[in-house]
Amino acid sequence: MSKYQLKRIFIEKDVADSSVTRQILSILSDIEIEYIDDYKNINVDGATTDDVFKKSKECLAIAGKKGGLVKEFRCRGGIVGNTEYFISHGNNCSFDCEYCFLQCYFDNAVPTVFVNHDEILDEIKNVLLAEAEKRIVFHAGELCDAMAFDDLTGLSCKLIQLFSEYPNARLELRTKTTTIENLLNLKPADNIVVSWTFSPQVIIDNHEHKAPSLEERLCAAVDVQKAGYNIGICLDPIILRDDWFDHYKAMLEMLIERLNMESVKFISLGGFRYLPSLSKVIKERDPQTNLLLNEFVPCVDGKHRYFRPIRVEAYKEIGTVIRALNKDVKISLCMETPEVWNSMKDILK
Ligand code: SF4
Repeated sequence: MSKYQLKRIFIEKDVADSSVTRQILSILSDIEIEYIDDYKNINVDGATTDDVFKKSKECLAIAGKKGGLVKEFRCRGGIVGNTEYFISHGNNCSFDCEYCFLQCYFDNAVPTVFVNHDEILDEIKNVLLAEAEKRIVFHAGELCDAMAFDDLTGLSCKLIQLFSEYPNARLELRTKTTTIENLLNLKPADNIVVSWTFSPQVIIDNHEHKAPSLEERLCAAVDVQKAGYNIGICLDPIILRDDWFDHYKAMLEMLIERLNMESVKFISLGGFRYLPSLSKVIKERDPQTNLLLNEFVPCVDGKHRYFRPIRVEAYKEIGTVIRALNKDVKISLCMETPEVWNSMKDILK
């Protein structure tokens, strides 16, 4: 039985014979296959909204994405952030985080991998060549965890090989997984950063269903770092509950003690935020959830965030803990307003 515990694989007819599809099927044998025309039209039935999501996460779709394989990512007006490019290598993932914005983003929740790797690499190369003079940043992990299916697809090997030829550009692989075997077998390049989202175990237990534990993520990050890679630490979303500070403080002490901070490129902090359409799905899936029990306010980009004084205070407390443990690491904020950045300028750098 594969670690994914899949019950069904959907395969687009157009990519049924592609080399990556064959590679995936050689690893996932004995699973019911349904051939389809278009991954966007997959329909998974269930008695309740939660049932549909849970059943969808037991499937995998293998598809070929037509166009839009590399997209420019800009923060909306009023939110601070650099322009980056994200690589569209898949949709959704097999984990089931309660706060995942993808729950209200796609037509279905089936984890989908795009196997037209040559086209993905060509689109990346086009951007790299067009922007050769600039130090541009790409990331994978926007619409699907960057490493979630890497043992099946091997995409990281191709990406790392490509980016090693373009040292001016940087690639960030964003993940919560332990699927690191390919990384360990490659020669790392200095312009690759593998970043993990870390959450206290109590948050993982309550809100990051099916995802690896804190200890598993940290062990994976330590191994990848020992293999020579740069690491990033993302605390995003930071979820505030009564005893949040003690849990985040204990986690940061553990991370900073066990990781070699010299190759930690950044620690980024982002408070939990949501669009109204996401809160509807969260409540429908679990009417008893405590995720939305706090003082949230609508912000300039339409997302609801913790009331500004509350989140500034939280960022300051976390930033102070980090600074007491390490004076040099870069701390930044994720998807925050200029006012919040300004309140934090003594701690950020
Ligand atoms: S790991 Fe990321 S993509 Fe996967 S369910 Fe969680 S938030 Fe969504």
